[in-house]
Amino acid sequence: MKALADAIGRKPNEVIMSLMMMNVLASINQTVESDVAQKLAEKFGCKLVVDHRDKDLHMLKNEVGETVDPEDRVYSCSESELKERPPIVTFMGHVDHGKTSLQDCIRKTHVTASEAGGITQSIGASVVNLDGKTITFVDTPGHEAFTQMRARGANVTDIVVLVVAADDGFMPQTIEALNHARAAKVPIIVAVNKMDLPDANFDRVLRNMQEHELMPEDWGGQVAAIKVSARTGSGIDDLLERILLEAEMLELKANPKNPAQAFVLESELEQGLGATANVVVKNGTLRVGDAIICGQYYGKVKSLIDSRGHRVPLAGPSTPVKVVGLSGVPEAGTRLAVCESLAAAKSLGEAREADNRIETLSAKPMAAGLEALFSQMEEGKRNDLKVVVKADVRGSTEAIVESLKKKSSPKISIEVIHSDVGAITENDVMLASSANAIILGFHVRVNPGVNDLAKKEHVEIRLYSIIYELLEDIEDAMAGRLEPEKREKELATVRILKIFHLSNGSDICGCIVEKGTAKVGAKARVFRGKELLFNGEVRSLRHLKDDVREVRAGMECGIRLDNFADFDEGDTIQLYEIELKKQTL
Ligand code: GDP
Repeated sequence: MKALADAIGRKPNEVIMSLMMMNVLASINQTVESDVAQKLAEKFGCKLVVDHRDKDLHMLKNEVGETVDPEDRVYSCSESELKERPPIVTFMGHVDHGKTSLQDCIRKTHVTASEAGGITQSIGASVVNLDGKTITFVDTPGHEAFTQMRARGANVTDIVVLVVAADDGFMPQTIEALNHARAAKVPIIVAVNKMDLPDANFDRVLRNMQEHELMPEDWGGQVAAIKVSARTGSGIDDLLERILLEAEMLELKANPKNPAQAFVLESELEQGLGATANVVVKNGTLRVGDAIICGQYYGKVKSLIDSRGHRVPLAGPSTPVKVVGLSGVPEAGTRLAVCESLAAAKSLGEAREADNRIETLSAKPMAAGLEALFSQMEEGKRNDLKVVVKADVRGSTEAIVESLKKKSSPKISIEVIHSDVGAITENDVMLASSANAIILGFHVRVNPGVNDLAKKEHVEIRLYSIIYELLEDIEDAMAGRLEPEKREKELATVRILKIFHLSNGSDICGCIVEKGTAKVGAKARVFRGKELLFNGEVRSLRHLKDDVREVRAGMECGIRLDNFADFDEGDTIQLYEIELKKQTL
């Protein structure tokens, strides 16, 4: 039912009502017969195509004859076949704190120089040796990529090294990176870099760590803070040793005898090679000649190239390797798995491609959202609601986070996985998507393109202009009453006609009130096309040269909102009022 409502773009309660009129009683989580669904869709002016294809088409048979997704295949294996595998490590941190320099320094000192003739090339990761043990470093350009991979289900990283420059301390992206690492639930090691600088302040970094609930070992906590310098190379061995120690505690194991399962780090079309994918093997062993499936692409492994540019016959667990032989270029984070034959891989790839086409035609249900929460609450399940909070000023962020924390109860726990000041960005969406969270925005705008991404990733963004409204929505969802629209009264629709740039640098926008009456103090939602950009308040209205309190339909006016001025010609502003709700108890 929920999927049906989503597919035809209607609210679940509208669908429930219409079904009742057709004498069908169904709650949000029940299924309805396909002919009923089709009739209902027709009532709403949609044509519903029901996909009857056999789900088994997307699966493969495993050894005991069960159908399973090749990526999810769990191979029976005895404890003795499990072998220790090297840790896969990602560096994260604020820009310019030295992530790249540290990785370069490690590579220079710990990667054996490639043999003469070997072409060293970047394959998105490198392998480092220390006293006979290996560590795989993934070159992540930033936590965006890290989280983007996780959003696709690729939990590649075992350990995160959070790089903090000793002369700078924690910066906004340090905190963002920390929250991304926390959401991934992987151990964190803090590398305090640039210790060679005269104004290096190690204690400040420890204090920063403590402030962010990352208790340093030096102060009796669990988290290592290692002093390093990418410039002088000091402390690098300590860092590597610590990584190995942390890995030992994680007891990372894999069975090299299994067919491989790997994750794509990056991929491209290369001249002379065709589609190549840099992958890191998570389990099993990938061999030249293996039939592989990777998203909708398939093929036979033509060659494997290791991080030193050598062609190799196989790649075992935790090994990064370039794979040549796929039928197309998969996205970062896609899983690659070995299939029993090229024909099986091909039919699976083709079925998935057809499936992707259908998926892009019909809307998929929200992964997480207040409505999902509502329906789960209805089923009486215990619930976790994860949220990302963005607000215009630090004070509001803190107030919202504190209030949300207080709302946790034995039945539902609310976890703020990230909070920050500023507009809602693609990063926030990817983080929310990977953690199944919703985004709550308070007095902030949604950056261009972010709504599209949110739709693609099925992340719900809710924008608010008053804190109590935000908290009330959460409360309503927790109490199983989610009808926020009911409290709103539409006042007016205003269209932006022209933007005037003044010589003092500020902009004034000329608008026309198309419907209703615009009022100072009214709530305002700014739309560009269908995209909601901002939810705020009308600060002032001007008619001709005068400040006015109201402007009626058909009249032109100038409008100013709080904290938003990036209008474009053609934007519409919906003005509304919140009606006082009746006492519910
Ligand atoms: P990233 O943005 O985190 O990858 O940072 P980079 O590795 O690009 O480093 C940023 C700047 O800091 C560069 O100019 C480096 O030369 C400098 N840098 C990096 N590590 C150190 C260090 O240990 N000591 C000093 N003095 N400078 C460093």
